[in-house]
This record gives sequence, structure tokens and C-alpha cells, in this order.
Amino acid sequence: MSSPETGKKLAGDRCAPEPPGTKMTTARVLTRLTSRNNPRLLPPRVRPSPSRERRVYSCAFCRTHAAYHDDIISKAFQGRHGRAFLMNEVCNVTLGVHEERLLMTGMHTVRDVFCSGCGSLMGWQYVRAHDASQRYKEGKFIVEKAMVLHEGGW
Ligand SMILES: [Zn+2]
Repeated sequence: MSSPETGKKLAGDRCAPEPPGTKMTTARVLTRLTSRNNPRLLPPRVRPSPSRERRVYSCAFCRTHAAYHDDIISKAFQGRHGRAFLMNEVCNVTLGVHEERLLMTGMHTVRDVFCSGCGSLMGWQYVRAHDASQRYKEGKFIVEKAMVLHEGGW
């Protein structure tokens, strides 16, 4: 019999051993007990590394999250205030009424997009493109670069 098992049982090997000479203080016992009942006291869950986290754009005025970097289709669009992003999706916005608007690429049915936190005009949504070559934008959003910030300094 050449089992690699030593058969030795370590008492308390599931817990980190206390350094010799220290006793568990009352405060520490209390923390352990409370943290079991209060999720906010538990250690933070393991999160993906920063490079894998979804990068967020937020409203430049009130910092409400507005969009994810992953949802950018193109950065080469033109808004009212300069550069703008074409995006698959935005969040925390309210939408205005449908309007016919003549844009650089022709006539479109659009509706304005406002931050739901502060009401700032962030861009617009393409509802319908009259020109067939522009149909790929239908349902997509324009977000003015000047109206959003990188959240978290990425
Ligand atoms: Zn806002």
C-alpha cells in the first residue's frame, strides 16, 4: 500500500490559523456575525479585470450612465456639436416625438434623445431613412461626443 495520503488530519484547516498569541477579539466576532446577515459587509465579489469590464459613457452634465463603448458602431458621424457616435443602444434616455429632418445623408424620420437624469439633448435616434442606402441606421442612435464623458477614466 503506497497511498499518497498521509492520513494526517489537520484540525481547523478550513480556517486561516490565528497567529500565535492572539485571541479573536469581540469586534472581529461581531463583524463575522453581521457580515453573514448583511450582504453589504461581505467582501466584494471577484470582478473581471478592468480591461474586460464594459466601458461606460455617461452624461457630461449629470453623470447618468448613457451608453456602453461596446455599442459604438461608428465614431465618424457628425452631430449638431461636432463629432458623434453611431450606437446600437443607449440607456437612461427619454425620446422625443418623431420628426422629419434633412440630414447630410438625406431625409430621415428621427426623434431626439434626452438624458433621463437631467434632460440634456444627447443626440437622436434614426427611426426611418428615406434613402435605401441609409436604412442600416434605422433604430440606431446618434450620441454627441460633446455630451458624454468616459466613466472611470479609461
Ligand atoms: Zn444628464
